Amino acid sequence: MASKYFPDTGFPPARNDPCYCSSGERYKRCCGVMGPGRPIPFGIGVKEQFLSPEECQSLVTLIDSKEAMPFRARDPQNNIILDPSRVCSWAKMEESQRVLDEVVACAFEQVIIPETGVEVVWYEEPQILMYKPGGFYQYHIDAGHRVPEQQAWCKAVDRDISMLIYLREDFTGGGLHFKRLDYTLQPKAGMLVWFPSDSRFEHMAKPLESGMRYSIVSWAAAKDVERVQDKRAKRSIDWLTRKKQA
Ligand SMILES: [Zn+2]
Repeated sequence: MASKYFPDTGFPPARNDPCYCSSGERYKRCCGVMGPGRPIPFGIGVKEQFLSPEECQSLVTLIDSKEAMPFRARDPQNNIILDPSRVCSWAKMEESQRVLDEVVACAFEQVIIPETGVEVVWYEEPQILMYKPGGFYQYHIDAGHRVPEQQAWCKAVDRDISMLIYLREDFTGGGLHFKRLDYTLQPKAGMLVWFPSDSRFEHMAKPLESGMRYSIVSWAAAKDVERVQDKRAKRSIDWLTRKKQA
Protein backbone atom coordinates (compact mmCIF):
# COMPACT_ATOMS: atom_id res chain seq x y z
CA MET A 1 0.00 0.00 0.00
CA ALA A 2 1.11 3.57 -0.60
CA SER A 3 2.91 5.27 2.25
CA LYS A 4 1.17 8.17 3.81
CA TYR A 5 3.11 10.91 5.53
CA PHE A 6 1.92 13.30 8.16
CA PRO A 7 2.76 16.95 7.58
CA ASP A 8 5.73 17.84 9.73
CA THR A 9 5.49 21.62 9.82
CA GLY A 10 2.80 24.16 10.50
CA PHE A 11 1.67 22.76 13.81
CA PRO A 12 1.08 24.31 16.15
CA PRO A 13 0.79 27.74 14.54
CA ALA A 14 3.23 30.53 15.39
CA ARG A 15 2.24 32.39 18.55
CA ASN A 16 0.68 35.30 16.68
CA ASP A 17 -1.02 33.21 13.99
CA PRO A 18 -4.68 32.14 14.15
CA CYS A 19 -5.26 29.20 16.48
CA TYR A 20 -5.65 25.82 14.83
CA CYS A 21 -8.96 25.29 16.65
CA SER A 22 -10.68 27.88 14.42
CA SER A 23 -11.65 30.11 17.34
CA GLY A 24 -10.39 33.15 15.44
CA GLU A 25 -8.07 34.02 18.35
CA ARG A 26 -4.32 34.11 18.05
CA TYR A 27 -2.71 30.82 19.06
CA LYS A 28 -0.94 32.44 22.01
CA ARG A 29 -4.28 33.62 23.43
CA CYS A 30 -6.15 30.37 22.77
CA CYS A 31 -4.84 26.80 22.83
CA GLY A 32 -1.28 28.10 23.20
CA VAL A 33 -1.88 30.06 26.41
CA MET A 34 0.92 29.18 28.82
CA GLY A 35 1.04 29.18 32.58
CA PRO A 36 -1.62 28.49 35.18
CA GLY A 37 -5.17 28.31 33.91
CA ARG A 38 -4.07 27.08 30.51
CA PRO A 39 -7.05 25.41 28.80
CA ILE A 40 -6.75 21.87 27.50
CA PRO A 41 -5.56 22.36 23.89
CA PHE A 42 -8.08 21.63 21.15
CA GLY A 43 -8.00 18.02 19.98
CA ILE A 44 -7.25 16.58 23.42
CA GLY A 45 -10.45 15.36 25.05
CA VAL A 46 -10.70 14.71 28.78
CA LYS A 47 -13.53 13.22 30.81
CA GLU A 48 -12.80 13.06 34.50
CA GLN A 49 -14.40 10.31 36.60
CA PHE A 50 -15.36 8.28 33.56
CA LEU A 51 -14.81 5.36 35.94
CA SER A 52 -15.71 5.61 39.61
CA PRO A 53 -13.07 5.04 42.34
CA GLU A 54 -14.71 1.65 43.02
CA GLU A 55 -14.53 0.64 39.34
CA CYS A 56 -10.88 1.69 39.21
CA GLN A 57 -10.09 -0.27 42.35
CA SER A 58 -11.72 -3.45 41.10
CA LEU A 59 -9.81 -3.19 37.80
CA VAL A 60 -6.53 -2.61 39.70
CA THR A 61 -7.22 -5.71 41.81
CA LEU A 62 -7.99 -7.72 38.67
CA ILE A 63 -4.80 -6.50 36.95
CA ASP A 64 -2.68 -7.27 40.02
CA SER A 65 -3.83 -10.90 39.79
CA LYS A 66 -2.35 -11.13 36.24
CA GLU A 67 1.18 -11.63 35.00
CA ALA A 68 3.13 -8.44 34.17
CA MET A 69 5.11 -8.65 30.91
CA PRO A 70 7.89 -6.18 30.02
CA PHE A 71 7.90 -4.65 26.53
CA ARG A 72 10.59 -6.11 24.31
CA ALA A 73 12.36 -4.94 21.16
CA ARG A 74 15.17 -6.16 18.88
CA ASP A 75 18.66 -4.67 18.91
CA PRO A 76 20.65 -4.13 15.66
CA GLN A 77 22.01 -7.71 15.96
CA ASN A 78 18.41 -8.96 16.12
CA ASN A 79 18.63 -10.04 19.77
CA ILE A 80 15.49 -9.64 21.83
CA ILE A 81 16.10 -6.99 24.47
CA LEU A 82 14.04 -4.84 26.79
CA ASP A 83 12.55 -1.97 24.78
CA PRO A 84 14.71 1.07 25.62
CA SER A 85 12.03 3.53 24.48
CA ARG A 86 9.31 2.03 26.62
CA VAL A 87 10.13 1.08 30.19
CA CYS A 88 6.83 -0.34 31.36
CA SER A 89 4.89 -3.60 31.42
CA TRP A 90 1.65 -4.90 30.02
CA ALA A 91 -0.72 -7.22 31.84
CA LYS A 92 -1.55 -10.63 30.43
CA MET A 93 -5.31 -10.39 30.85
CA GLU A 94 -6.27 -13.74 29.25
CA GLU A 95 -9.92 -14.60 29.97
CA SER A 96 -10.43 -11.19 31.62
CA GLN A 97 -9.74 -9.36 28.36
CA ARG A 98 -13.46 -8.98 27.68
CA VAL A 99 -13.76 -6.77 30.78
CA LEU A 100 -11.40 -4.27 29.13
CA ASP A 101 -13.16 -4.62 25.78
CA GLU A 102 -16.42 -3.59 27.44
CA VAL A 103 -14.96 -0.62 29.33
CA VAL A 104 -13.39 0.71 26.13
CA ALA A 105 -16.58 0.14 24.11
CA CYS A 106 -18.46 2.25 26.69
CA ALA A 107 -15.81 4.98 26.44
CA PHE A 108 -16.22 5.17 22.66
CA GLU A 109 -19.99 4.85 22.71
CA GLN A 110 -20.83 7.15 25.61
CA VAL A 111 -18.11 9.79 25.35
CA ILE A 112 -15.63 9.80 22.48
CA ILE A 113 -18.01 9.27 19.55
CA PRO A 114 -20.59 11.81 20.80
CA GLU A 115 -17.89 14.36 21.66
CA THR A 116 -15.88 14.09 18.44
CA GLY A 117 -18.50 13.03 15.91
CA VAL A 118 -15.97 10.54 14.54
CA GLU A 119 -17.43 7.31 13.21
CA VAL A 120 -15.44 4.40 14.61
CA VAL A 121 -14.97 1.38 12.32
CA TRP A 122 -12.96 -0.75 14.70
CA TYR A 123 -10.84 -0.42 17.83
CA GLU A 124 -7.82 -2.44 18.79
CA GLU A 125 -7.91 -4.92 21.62
CA PRO A 126 -7.31 -2.78 24.72
CA GLN A 127 -4.09 -3.23 26.66
CA ILE A 128 -3.10 -2.45 30.23
CA LEU A 129 0.13 -0.46 30.63
CA MET A 130 1.84 -0.40 34.02
CA TYR A 131 4.65 1.95 35.01
CA LYS A 132 6.67 1.81 38.22
CA PRO A 133 9.22 4.39 39.43
CA GLY A 134 11.74 5.08 36.66
CA GLY A 135 9.33 3.80 34.01
CA PHE A 136 8.50 6.00 31.01
CA TYR A 137 7.51 5.88 27.35
CA GLN A 138 9.69 8.06 25.13
CA TYR A 139 8.22 10.51 22.58
CA HIS A 140 6.24 8.72 19.88
CA ILE A 141 3.07 8.88 17.85
CA ASP A 142 0.56 6.04 17.96
CA ALA A 143 -0.01 5.75 14.21
CA GLY A 144 3.52 5.45 12.88
CA HIS A 145 7.16 6.35 13.10
CA ARG A 146 9.66 9.03 12.24
CA VAL A 147 11.43 8.80 8.88
CA PRO A 148 14.52 10.97 9.43
CA GLU A 149 15.65 11.00 5.78
CA GLN A 150 12.24 12.35 4.75
CA GLN A 151 12.06 14.67 7.75
CA ALA A 152 8.54 13.41 8.20
CA TRP A 153 6.35 10.98 10.08
CA CYS A 154 5.07 7.97 8.20
CA LYS A 155 1.60 6.67 8.96
CA ALA A 156 2.16 2.93 9.33
CA VAL A 157 -0.83 1.83 11.38
CA ASP A 158 -4.53 2.47 10.88
CA ARG A 159 -5.01 4.35 14.11
CA ASP A 160 -6.92 7.62 14.03
CA ILE A 161 -7.99 8.15 17.63
CA SER A 162 -5.92 7.20 20.66
CA MET A 163 -7.60 6.70 24.00
CA LEU A 164 -6.46 6.04 27.55
CA ILE A 165 -8.26 5.45 30.81
CA TYR A 166 -6.21 5.98 33.95
CA LEU A 167 -6.89 3.64 36.84
CA ARG A 168 -4.62 5.10 39.53
CA GLU A 169 -3.39 8.45 40.69
CA ASP A 170 -1.16 7.36 43.60
CA PHE A 171 2.02 8.38 41.78
CA THR A 172 4.20 11.42 41.11
CA GLY A 173 5.71 12.25 37.74
CA GLY A 174 4.18 10.20 34.93
CA GLY A 175 2.45 13.11 33.19
CA LEU A 176 1.18 12.71 29.63
CA HIS A 177 3.22 15.31 27.75
CA PHE A 178 2.40 16.58 24.23
CA LYS A 179 5.63 17.76 22.67
CA ARG A 180 4.46 20.23 20.03
CA LEU A 181 1.78 21.74 22.23
CA ASP A 182 4.17 21.84 25.19
CA TYR A 183 1.29 20.63 27.32
CA THR A 184 1.28 18.13 30.18
CA LEU A 185 -1.81 16.40 31.46
CA GLN A 186 -1.56 14.91 34.94
CA PRO A 187 -3.58 11.69 35.04
CA LYS A 188 -6.24 11.08 37.68
CA ALA A 189 -7.92 7.80 38.52
CA GLY A 190 -11.00 7.26 36.37
CA MET A 191 -9.97 9.88 33.80
CA LEU A 192 -10.63 9.15 30.12
CA VAL A 193 -8.39 10.94 27.60
CA TRP A 194 -8.48 10.87 23.80
CA PHE A 195 -6.62 12.65 21.00
CA PRO A 196 -5.78 12.21 17.30
CA SER A 197 -3.10 9.56 16.74
CA ASP A 198 -1.14 11.67 14.22
CA SER A 199 2.14 13.59 14.44
CA ARG A 200 0.61 16.79 15.81
CA PHE A 201 0.00 14.89 19.03
CA GLU A 202 3.45 13.38 19.50
CA HIS A 203 3.58 12.51 23.19
CA MET A 204 5.38 10.74 25.99
CA ALA A 205 4.65 9.28 29.39
CA LYS A 206 7.08 11.18 31.61
CA PRO A 207 9.25 9.19 34.00
CA LEU A 208 7.47 8.06 37.13
CA GLU A 209 9.05 9.34 40.34
CA SER A 210 7.04 7.31 42.85
CA GLY A 211 4.00 5.07 43.04
CA MET A 212 2.36 3.08 40.24
CA ARG A 213 0.63 4.28 37.07
CA TYR A 214 -1.88 1.94 35.38
CA SER A 215 -3.82 2.75 32.24
CA ILE A 216 -6.06 1.05 29.71
CA VAL A 217 -5.11 2.01 26.16
CA SER A 218 -6.73 1.44 22.77
CA TRP A 219 -6.83 2.99 19.30
CA ALA A 220 -9.69 3.35 16.86
CA ALA A 221 -9.79 3.54 13.09
CA ALA A 222 -12.24 6.13 11.77
CA LYS A 223 -14.55 5.93 8.78
CA ASP A 224 -13.53 7.69 5.55
CA VAL A 225 -9.82 7.72 6.36
CA GLU A 226 -7.51 6.23 3.75
CA ARG A 227 -6.08 2.92 4.99
CA VAL A 228 -2.33 2.28 5.19
CA GLN A 229 -2.42 -1.40 6.21
CA ASP A 230 -3.58 -4.35 4.15
CA LYS A 231 -5.21 -5.92 7.17
CA ARG A 232 -6.64 -4.52 10.33
CA ALA A 233 -4.86 -5.27 13.59
CA LYS A 234 -5.17 -8.78 14.92
CA ARG A 235 -7.93 -9.06 17.50
CA SER A 236 -9.38 -5.69 16.62
CA ILE A 237 -13.02 -5.28 17.55
CA ASP A 238 -15.38 -4.42 14.72
CA TRP A 239 -17.67 -1.64 15.81
CA LEU A 240 -20.75 -2.55 13.75
CA THR A 241 -20.54 -6.25 14.64
CA ARG A 242 -20.22 -5.32 18.27
CA LYS A 243 -23.22 -2.99 18.09
CA LYS A 244 -25.35 -5.71 16.51
CA GLN A 245 -24.44 -8.14 19.27
CA ALA A 246 -25.08 -5.60 22.04
ZN1 LIG B 1 -7.46 27.34 20.01
